[in-house]
Amino acid sequence: MELFDHLAGEYEQVVWCHHPPTGLRAIVAIHSTALGPSLGGTRYYPYATEEDALVDVLRLAKGMTYKSALAGLDLGGGKAVIIGDPQTAKTEALLRAYGRFVDSLGGRYLTAEDVGTTQADMDIIRRETPCVTGVSRYLGGSGDPSDATAHGVWWAMRAVAAHLEGSADHEGDLSGYHVVVVGVGKVGSLLCRLLVQSGAKVTVSDVNPAAVERVVAETGAAAVGTGEAYATECDFLAPCALGGTLNDASVPALRCRAVVGAANNQLAHPDVALKLTERGIVYAPDFVVNAGGVIDIADGLTGYHPDRAEAAVRRVGATTLAVLARAAEQGTTTVAAAEALAEQRIAAVSGVARIRTYPRS
Ligand code: NAD
Repeated sequence: MELFDHLAGEYEQVVWCHHPPTGLRAIVAIHSTALGPSLGGTRYYPYATEEDALVDVLRLAKGMTYKSALAGLDLGGGKAVIIGDPQTAKTEALLRAYGRFVDSLGGRYLTAEDVGTTQADMDIIRRETPCVTGVSRYLGGSGDPSDATAHGVWWAMRAVAAHLEGSADHEGDLSGYHVVVVGVGKVGSLLCRLLVQSGAKVTVSDVNPAAVERVVAETGAAAVGTGEAYATECDFLAPCALGGTLNDASVPALRCRAVVGAANNQLAHPDVALKLTERGIVYAPDFVVNAGGVIDIADGLTGYHPDRAEAAVRRVGATTLAVLARAAEQGTTTVAAAEALAEQRIAAVSGVARIRTYPRS
């Protein structure tokens, strides 16, 4: 496939960053700056081919446009990938070289942490550019966004509970609900705590037995093997590990009323949304539900204010309910409804004409 064919006329800019002395090979994709500068993390991954890296960065950048638009942020969608093994190839010099490339984009792209990069890496990048967020608190940043992500998922679950009860109040009651949380790492473990505090019954599953033991000891949750987790009867299934777990094999086996979880890219392919709808399972789209993290780090761009960030994360509930209501009204999947709402906001806000004034400086 030719390079420009990958862009399908949808992307504003794609930048290749190459710095042989440090071995840096990175691609920055800017999908849209219609609502504001594009924001998205830097994924550091040993892609098998450069084409795999390009396909991934394009897909992820577009996803960020929808996520930020629905989260009500004044931000567009972008993403970056660094090609290589972060365990062996990551150096201070490479990250600083990368930071200079990000800086050269003049604020059109703002970076953050993602798979293979850490907050400490963002602190290094910050030494080269202000166009980075999610840096350490002592640098004025928001710190680890996992707590905000978990809270966003919890607000989304309350909204889905309200939807199932036919209530227009998005702050539904989770007491008595049974939730299966698959993946109890940073986000999943915090979510379990919130659920138990809300009176929900929680069952957890993780490939890491130590992670399961920790959460069971702390919250009194039950545990189930990873092989049985998706087929466990429950109200909500919360995928909080890897993407692609809702697929042609897992969906027929599900015994839940709704799927509400933090994991990115939960659907193995777009038709899975339809399969879930046909089974009568409510799917709260991942890019709506897990927006708490991006909302939190976006707040860090203007001097982090925890109360303001918390209030913004809380709105994930109302957005989730609006998405479910639109899907029900229009007879579409929830993913289609969410994308339509995002596109509607992008078109409406970016269509507001500028008022041009005489230059004052
Ligand atoms: P994490 O690495 O801290 O936790 C992931 C957990 O999943 C680990 O405990 C791991 O052992 C477990 N796991 C891996 N494979 C599994 C499998 N096959 N079955 C069951 N468990 C498995 O990651 P995290 O930060 O908690 O993020 C969880 C998910 O949420 C990821 O998909 C991430 O992309 C997404 N997400 C996270 C944030 C955030 O703020 N951390 C924001 C948005 C989205």
